[in-house]
Amino acid sequence: MNSKEIFELAEKIISGEEVGYKAACDLIRLEGSRVYDLLAAANRIREHFKGNKVSLCSIVNAKSGRCPEDCSFCGQSAFYNTNATEYGLIEPEVIADAAEKAKGMKSREFSIVTSGTRVESEKELEQLCQALQKIGSDMERCASLGIMERDSLLRLKEAGLESYHHNLETARSFFPNICTTHDYEEDVNTVRMAKELGFKTCCGGILGLGESLEQRVEMAFTLKDLDVDSIPMNFLNPIKGTKMEGMKTVQPLDGLKTIAIYRFILPKKNIIVSGGREVTFRDLQSMIFMAGANGTLIGNYLLTKGRKPDELLQMIEDLGLEVENY
Ligand code: SF4
Repeated sequence: MNSKEIFELAEKIISGEEVGYKAACDLIRLEGSRVYDLLAAANRIREHFKGNKVSLCSIVNAKSGRCPEDCSFCGQSAFYNTNATEYGLIEPEVIADAAEKAKGMKSREFSIVTSGTRVESEKELEQLCQALQKIGSDMERCASLGIMERDSLLRLKEAGLESYHHNLETARSFFPNICTTHDYEEDVNTVRMAKELGFKTCCGGILGLGESLEQRVEMAFTLKDLDVDSIPMNFLNPIKGTKMEGMKTVQPLDGLKTIAIYRFILPKKNIIVSGGREVTFRDLQSMIFMAGANGTLIGNYLLTKGRKPDELLQMIEDLGLEVENY
C-alpha cells in the first residue's frame, strides 16, 4: 500500500467504511517510511473520533500472586517462581485510599484488579462491593476479577461497578501457546456476559508474546466482533521466572504500528496503552497518541513501576492534549 492509499483508507474510515482483515494485514506488514504515513493517518482518525482528549486510568493490585492459571507472561501465576508479592484481598478502606490517590493524578477511571481465576468467596465479593461504595461515584469504577458468574456481576453493579475489565490476552489461534489451564471461550463469555448486563467493557491483550503480525490483527477483529468499549494494549515486559523471561520487548516502531492498525480497525473505541509502555517505547512514549491511542495508564502497574505521574501529565500537556474528565 502506498502513501496515497493509506491516507485514502483513513478518510474512508472517517466517513464510516470499515477496514477488512486483508487490508489490515497489508497495513501491519508495512515497513520503512510508510510506517510514518500509517501513524499520521491513524492520528487523523484518532483526532476525528476522539478530539484532543486523553483518558487516564489507574489500577490497584488488590490481591496478588498464587494464581492457579498458567499464563506464560504472568508474574502472579503459581506455576512460576517470580518473587512477586503475595497477599489476599486487601481491605475496602485500602482500595478506596488507592482510588483517592488516582483521583489526585487526574485519573477518570479506577480499576480493582485481583489475581486468580475468579472471585473466590462470598466474603471477597462482599468486601469488593464495600470497596466500590467507598470509592464513590465521582470516577468510573472498574474491576478486573477474572471469569465471572452472572449473579456476582449483578451484585457488583448494584454496588456501583460501571465497567468490567477482562483481557483476552492474545489471538484465539495463539492462546494455547499462552495458557493451558482455561479456555479462550471462557474469557470471551465473561466479556459477552458483562456487556449483556449493561457494563462498559474493557478488553484487550498483551502484544509481544510471540504472536505473528496477522495474529495481532486477528485479536483486533475478535475485539471488534465483541464490540468492547475500551481496548487496553499491553506490551510484554518480560518478568524473570516466567516462561517469557527471555523474550525481547516489542520494538518501538513495531509497537506504534500495532497501535495504528488497532485505530484503523476500531476507529471509535478507546485505545488505552497500558503495561509495558516505558520499556517498549522508551523515548517514543509521546508518540503513542500520534499512533492513534487516546488513553493510557497513570501510576504503577500490577507488579512493575510506571512513569512518574507528573511527568506523564506534563507530556500530555506538551503535546497539546487534554486529560478527559469523568
Ligand atoms: S494473567 Fe490473571 S489469570 Fe493469568 S496467571 Fe496472571 S493473575 Fe492468573
